[in-house]
Amino acid sequence: MIILGFESSCDETGVALVSTEKGLLAHALHTQIAMHQAYGGVVPELASRDHIRRVLPLTRQALGQAGMTLDDVDAIAYTAGPGLAGALLVGASVAQSLAWARGLPAIAIHHLEGHLLSPLLADPRPDFPFVALLVSGGHTQLMRVDGVGSYELLGETLDDAAGEAFDKTAKLMGLGYPGGPALSRLAEQGDAGRYDLPRPMLHSQDLDFSFSGLKTAVLTRIKTLEKAHGSLPDGERAHLAAATEAAIVDVLAAKSLKALKQTGLKRLVVAGGVGANRHLRERLQQALRRLDGRAYFPPLDLCTDNGAMIAYAAACRVNAGLADLEDTRHAFTVRPRWDLQEICRA
Ligand code: ATP
Ligand code: MG
Ligand code: FE
Repeated sequence: MIILGFESSCDETGVALVSTEKGLLAHALHTQIAMHQAYGGVVPELASRDHIRRVLPLTRQALGQAGMTLDDVDAIAYTAGPGLAGALLVGASVAQSLAWARGLPAIAIHHLEGHLLSPLLADPRPDFPFVALLVSGGHTQLMRVDGVGSYELLGETLDDAAGEAFDKTAKLMGLGYPGGPALSRLAEQGDAGRYDLPRPMLHSQDLDFSFSGLKTAVLTRIKTLEKAHGSLPDGERAHLAAATEAAIVDVLAAKSLKALKQTGLKRLVVAGGVGANRHLRERLQQALRRLDGRAYFPPLDLCTDNGAMIAYAAACRVNAGLADLEDTRHAFTVRPRWDLQEICRA
């Protein structure tokens, strides 16, 4: 079965074709980063309008890449939430209209399930069960994953997400949007030991996280430096970036290892945009090797939002018998807020 999938939950428009037998066939992506940069963050209304402009050209591009036409498509998948309501509605309306016009089933996908299953698109791919560290712009969660649709939440952030911590501290340092990649590039030139930043909840007994305090700690250092030097010196900015990255990576690694210990599992899967962070990858790969286990990551270009993970999650649900292919009502809604636990098997 060939599935055409749409992602439009935030500032990436993604369209992909996945075969339930052969896996990923093609994917096309447009990121709105350049458009939102001038505003220092995502402007929801601009995001929705841009999704409208991009979605059909990207669909043609993905079909062309796969050497297919709409006649080859057997089902349509789309991100139904969580995300920005207006942005979600673009992908959902296009997907549902196409499905209705062509008499095909439409499959609503939870964005986080897309992230969560994306490491299965890489080689080597992990077997179930595994512990998943989901680290994106809006979420930081540790989960026990026993199969498609079996996601047990082990712990999560009590305030900011890890990606948000990268973005907000980067903004304080004047690094623009999105800050994660810029901060981690700058960190290469800095000495992480130069500033001692807090590692919130590092030693708490649970598997929860807290990152909002880090922002305040970085702001305090910046203010002190600006007072002393008149502005933030470039060298110190790099040291601060390195120290911030080290603090975030330390906490993410420590809690992931604690989750492995608690579950007795030896496979760790990292998903979401922060999974593109080189230090986090290296740290977890090393730690898992020492444990005689293994860390798995999505292909680098599929860490942040994309259509491939949505079409692929739909294929996984179809293969697991968890997709309703008989529903031809095409009445739909989007879920800007949506708990992943709601889509788990009973
Ligand atoms: P969610 O999936 O929770 O709704 P999102 O879709 O906005 O949020 P993603 O697209 O998965 O999140 O990831 C974007 C986040 O990843 C941003 O916060 C960005 O700064 C961060 N990020 C991307 N690359 C890196 C990197 N190399 N180092 C650190 N953070 C990174
Ligand atoms: Mg994004
Ligand atoms: Fe995402």
